[in-house]
Amino acid sequence: MSNCLFCNIAAGEIPSSKVYEDELCLAFYDIDPQAPTHFLVIPKAHISSVSEINEENGAIVAHIFQVIAQETKKLGLDSYRVVSNIGAQAGQSVFHLHFHVLAGRDMTWPPG
Ligand code: 5GP
Ligand code: ZN
Repeated sequence: MSNCLFCNIAAGEIPSSKVYEDELCLAFYDIDPQAPTHFLVIPKAHISSVSEINEENGAIVAHIFQVIAQETKKLGLDSYRVVSNIGAQAGQSVFHLHFHVLAGRDMTWPPG
């Protein structure tokens, strides 16, 4: 989608600070970090949120979680939080599926 910020980042049309990239997904640091380490993992194909995951496109989620496990190990992170906001009330501001990976500080529960 040409008007989608994360599609443009995935295509390299908008620069990002990359953590990891393959043909299916991209991991890059958040521009407004909420923890000492804060990166996002997105599918390259446009999916608007978790609510659009189905039998046909769902394999990307397992792949993204494999990438999260791999990259957090590479970064030496043994405790971290993975978050995906769905819809505006939950805090979603970019409507292209993404998983936040946050680490490096104490986390509170429940989240705000
Ligand atoms: P959401 O609010 O949808 O859960 O998360 C969107 C995230 O994207 C936010 O944490 C925000 O800081 C990040 N973000 C928004 N625009 C950009 C950008 O242009 N580059 C990067 N690296 N992150 C962005
Ligand atoms: Zn998109």
